[in-house]
Amino acid sequence: MTCTRCPLHVDCHTPCIQGTGPIPCPLLICGEAPGFNEDQEGKPFVGEAGMLLTYLLEKLGVPRSSVFITNLIRCRPQKNELPKGKELDSIVRACQMHFARELCLVRPSVVLLLGGTSVKYMTGHRFISKIEGSEVDLKAFEPEDLKGQTTMAGVLGERSIKAVAGYHPAYVLRSPGKEVNLVRAIARACRLAGIHARPMGIETGWFKYEIKT
Ligand code: URA
Repeated sequence: MTCTRCPLHVDCHTPCIQGTGPIPCPLLICGEAPGFNEDQEGKPFVGEAGMLLTYLLEKLGVPRSSVFITNLIRCRPQKNELPKGKELDSIVRACQMHFARELCLVRPSVVLLLGGTSVKYMTGHRFISKIEGSEVDLKAFEPEDLKGQTTMAGVLGERSIKAVAGYHPAYVLRSPGKEVNLVRAIARACRLAGIHARPMGIETGWFKYEIKT
């Protein structure tokens, strides 16, 4: 897809990477922005962070191919560094139509938001650590101090879609102690979406912690 709505398209290899997965699909997983590998392959979450996400999904008995995976921002930011402040606001605004289009096509009942940037723009929450692992309503969280700025709440109109906030797999790669949080967030999102995720016990040897689904 050709999109020239934001400046990021100029320097990337694959502009405007669209989500992949079944349509319709009860669970849509939304990351932040493509990195080097995603830019090369033209698909979301195919690099290291994607491998971790795929691994955790599969360990929960949920094939990656059974969920829809996409990103908030569609072109790779240079050096994988997201712009900040108003520049980021305007890029997210430019990408909103792609997300809105996917929401209409995929019609998920649950969106799993991965990473602080997606959480902020989709829910208005500035601090992922405060809501990580919990269920949020995409429409319900638009705090006063973010009103009028770019948030994805506007994209949804009157529609209410459940969301679960989770740490980003790239962050988990740097902070392995947070893996349990991410697995619990994925399991929670699956359960809410009506997707069977198998309980993970310590005894299976797959995880060092208990995951109740
Ligand atoms: N990180 C993301 O947020 N999305 C990707 O597609 C890859 C890495």
